[in-house]
Amino acid sequence: MENIGAITYDEFLVLMDEDSAVSQRRAYTAVHAHELAHMWFGNLVTPAWWNDIWLNESFASWMMYKAADSYWPEGEFDRETLKGALGAMAGDSLAAAREIREPIDNNDKISGAFDGITYQKGGGVLAMLERYVGEDRFQAGVQLHQERHADSTATAEDFIANLAEGSERAEIEAAFKSYIEQPGVPLLSVVLNCDDEKNPVLEVSQARYAPLGSAIETDASRWHIPMCISYVVDGKRNSSCTLLSESEQSIKLDADSCPTRVLPNADGAGYYRFSMDDSGWSNLIADTSDLAAAEALVFADSLDAAFRAGEVSAETYVAGMAALVNHAAWDVADAATGHLEAITNVIETDQLAPVEQAFRKMVRPRFAAIGDATDSGSALLRQRMQRFLIVMADDQAMREPLAKQAAARIGLEGDPDPSAADPSELETIFSIGVQDIGEPFFDLLLEQALSSEDPAFRGSATGALARVEDPALVRKLQAVLLSGDFKGSEFLGIMFRQMIRAATTELTYDWFRENDETIIELIPQSFRSGVVPGFGSAFCTAQRADDWEVFVLSHADKIPGYERDLAQATESVRLCAALRESKASELVAAFENY
Ligand SMILES: [Zn+2]
Repeated sequence: MENIGAITYDEFLVLMDEDSAVSQRRAYTAVHAHELAHMWFGNLVTPAWWNDIWLNESFASWMMYKAADSYWPEGEFDRETLKGALGAMAGDSLAAAREIREPIDNNDKISGAFDGITYQKGGGVLAMLERYVGEDRFQAGVQLHQERHADSTATAEDFIANLAEGSERAEIEAAFKSYIEQPGVPLLSVVLNCDDEKNPVLEVSQARYAPLGSAIETDASRWHIPMCISYVVDGKRNSSCTLLSESEQSIKLDADSCPTRVLPNADGAGYYRFSMDDSGWSNLIADTSDLAAAEALVFADSLDAAFRAGEVSAETYVAGMAALVNHAAWDVADAATGHLEAITNVIETDQLAPVEQAFRKMVRPRFAAIGDATDSGSALLRQRMQRFLIVMADDQAMREPLAKQAAARIGLEGDPDPSAADPSELETIFSIGVQDIGEPFFDLLLEQALSSEDPAFRGSATGALARVEDPALVRKLQAVLLSGDFKGSEFLGIMFRQMIRAATTELTYDWFRENDETIIELIPQSFRSGVVPGFGSAFCTAQRADDWEVFVLSHADKIPGYERDLAQATESVRLCAALRESKASELVAAFENY
């Protein structure tokens, strides 16, 4: 998988110094740990066939954050596996999702196996099973497997049997198989029943999660789910775990009075979403600041999913996200603004003003509270919230001083001044230069980006150039893209951003259709099937989903293996259209009332 003792890196991961952005140092730490993990998961024991490539990538994804967390504890890598798994749920919520262990019967399917399901969902499933059997027992099972198959190959059946034997927990075989052999996110609907005040019970039912407009048959799947619950009784937090295998189950809580709050995914350890009745959600919203960071993260995800499924009102959604933005953990606040950013996709551009106003009201106090804290989480949150306020909340007061910094940094009048801007904020600051100063800034930044040999600077500069909105400059950028002067990864990054940003989607789509043959040729063959269909996921109408399908199919011969990516992209567009249709006006009203 990796060369033994000779790991290869992209320049961005290794060319840095003590002033480099914290995000760059984190990227190196994580990737380095990931590739080292492949010395065991990939090199020492190798999958017998491509259908078990997840035995490499899920393990390396899960292992890398364990290693990073022990090497750099202040970096708070311990929630990264969870965040990855929550991210993978977006794709796993589609009818066109695939199972972790998918048959590979032709070469075109191999590259499609290296995706969020293999890496992040797989990593999340491993973390869930580890939590359920306990760290020591899980380790004993993994060691047994590595010893039995050292310097050889193994299959998933081998691994699952060895894990069950080594951990002495036979029941995890069924749980493991139910997660790797079928696609989808389990949804647990949870109702707290305190009819008998002294014996509170949770009524739990399972189904497959499906958003509004989905073709998923929600009751056609069943999982064996290691479910852990946390609940608060008389101000004290308890937790308990059960292996759910039925479609409906009652769980008796170890409490002699009714809990004031129940969180159906203790420590965020389980790969599933939950849904509750109105009082269940309100209790969580009222107590958000008391939730541990991992529990607040799963709460944010499940609330977002419940809104997209039409199960909670826009008012509850907005109140929940506002509470989460103010959570003390940097990545909870970041996740909440991430959900808010994603949901604006369903709102028409001319309806955004009251939404942006609500965003400013929600996010400014949390941004101010970061102050000049220097820990890595605060540094990351400062950078991301600054971008959110400027880009998503249209905070004009923040833009003007940053435009001046951008001009000084690249030397628009005089020599470039590297001390004028923090490297971690460079992309945001340059974006403002591109948008607010316009052509002179755009031209100079473009020239510096193309001649720079500093991968971090090039990354920030190309990211900012991709945010250009002035149609004349967009056309200028398109001409440079066609000239082949950008590296392949930069070309893809710019084009993707131009496609997904509402301000430039249509201009970029027109350009793509006019230059289709040339553009597809410029994309390396091995990336085509993975990226070309996904360019269309920016749209949000059924008409555009149809157009996009026709366009991609007309180039099918040049992008072998496109089928699943195209199905997922067009499905996402149709789901966006369905959510817009039924919920956009309610959502705008809820932001107006905030
Ligand atoms: Zn890997």
